[in-house]
Amino acid sequence: MTHESDETDLLIVGAGPTGLAAAVDALRYGTSVRIVERRAERAEYSKALVVHARTMEVFERLGCAQAVLSAGAKFRALHVHTIPRRKRTRVDLLDRRWGDTRYPFWLSVPQYEVERALEGRLAEMLARTQSNHGPVVEWSTELVALDQRESHVIASVRGPDGVVREHRARWVLGCDGGRSTTRELIGVSMKRADLGVTFALADVHTDSELAGDEGHVVMADEGLLLIVPMPAEGVWRLIAQVDSAGPELDASRWNELVTRRSGIDLRVRSMGWSSRFQLTSGVSDALRRRRVFLLGDAAHVHSPVGGQGLNTGVQDAHNLLWKIALADSEKLSPTQREALLDSYASERHAVAEAMVRGTERMTRVLTGRSRFAFGALRRVAPFALKIDRVMDQLGRGVGMLDLRTGGRRLANPELAPGVRLHDRVTALFPTLLRWNGRSLLVRPDLVVAEPGSLPHQSEVTVTEAGSV
Ligand SMILES: Cc1cc2nc3c(=O)[nH]c(=O)nc-3n(C[C@H](O)[C@H](O)[C@H](O)COP(=O)(O)OP(=O)(O)OC[C@H]3O[C@@H](n4cnc5c(N)ncnc54)[C@H](O)[C@@H]3O)c2cc1C
Repeated sequence: MTHESDETDLLIVGAGPTGLAAAVDALRYGTSVRIVERRAERAEYSKALVVHARTMEVFERLGCAQAVLSAGAKFRALHVHTIPRRKRTRVDLLDRRWGDTRYPFWLSVPQYEVERALEGRLAEMLARTQSNHGPVVEWSTELVALDQRESHVIASVRGPDGVVREHRARWVLGCDGGRSTTRELIGVSMKRADLGVTFALADVHTDSELAGDEGHVVMADEGLLLIVPMPAEGVWRLIAQVDSAGPELDASRWNELVTRRSGIDLRVRSMGWSSRFQLTSGVSDALRRRRVFLLGDAAHVHSPVGGQGLNTGVQDAHNLLWKIALADSEKLSPTQREALLDSYASERHAVAEAMVRGTERMTRVLTGRSRFAFGALRRVAPFALKIDRVMDQLGRGVGMLDLRTGGRRLANPELAPGVRLHDRVTALFPTLLRWNGRSLLVRPDLVVAEPGSLPHQSEVTVTEAGSV
């Protein structure tokens, strides 16, 4: 993005959802950014499909929540088929008691729409702050080497003309996915566990009469099947556990598979994007080496069960950017600065480990790798899913609202019609929030930190947020 000068504060490697979210966040702080992306253009296949409440709250901060919302559709209900072809339980997902959030739902939205919304927001912010900025993303441009110095990093970047040029950046963010070059260049490894499960996926166009905003989870003996509505008429994402040596699935084979496992006549007419992959999961051994950080899939890869991948990457970025901005503000001593930057690695490593373990466990159960747990879940689910409290907690849990990272999320109750507590906490740096007779130390990522845990408390401001 900065082309005239050969130097930026931040070099972001990879223009997936993590890299784009990091760039938007950086611009909020006035940090200069360059994003390089190996691909020639945006991939128009859906990949991740669910955006969760906590991520919507981050998008609200970044100024693109409305764009993401309008490109998506809320899941109205989930049908859990526990005795396939015979017994299914319908669970309403809307109007649940999730409590303190503006986004009490799971949003179905293809990954490329999220990327488009973030890129649109970036273009808007750049146009406002720089009159002659370059392209938002430098496509066909890849990182090939890194050299870390005392006060900056020299990155070697190969452009569309094939020429490798050196670029100087204060910080480098490796947002370059599961096979991260950045990770390799800084000598960090990621051990991946093979979960022994193969999934086939496809986005299909159907003549089905299924309700277009209700999903299906089919726990069949033959294997797990997910039928997920996409925000377009008659379009569905199918995800099926398959035999790794089995045949490729075309439209008619998908029809047979869906009917055999669920009894549903989906009437697949044609197929869009399809893919097949062996499930692996793992966390990078480290998320920081001096001036280089790893975020998103570069830091953690895991099973898509629960749809946490994209969400976690965006939240990694939101955890890090304010820390870099504060570290660069020269308000901290060198020791405080290092501790703050290291806290990104320790906080997000813990989140990634927990998420990888949780999704591995859930995948083993749902795919029948743990036979006993699979049988028990099939018996218990029809009753448990009817208990409101269970569903409310499950909804919040999957929505990542109760996830702890460096502290707990600041609650977001409604203070007045249309006004919530988060609307009042807009500072870009940690804030001492006096609210309802309490004093809370709130980080810019809306995490309530332990008093004394942040090194720069002389910098806090006081916000009178009213009372509920
Ligand atoms: C087939 C498939 C299906 C998926 N389905 C789901 C799902 O249903 N639900 C879910 O939650 N998640 C799903 N995921 C995972 C989800 O897509 C990822 O978690 C998400 O994309 C992570 O975003 P990211 O920005 O960290 O990485 P990515 O989206 O992988 O972006 C990384 C970018 O870096 C670029 N890059 C790589 N190396 C370089 C380099 N040297 N220089 C410059 N650029 C580079 C790549 O081209 C890529 O565009 C799926 C992933 C795949 C591949």
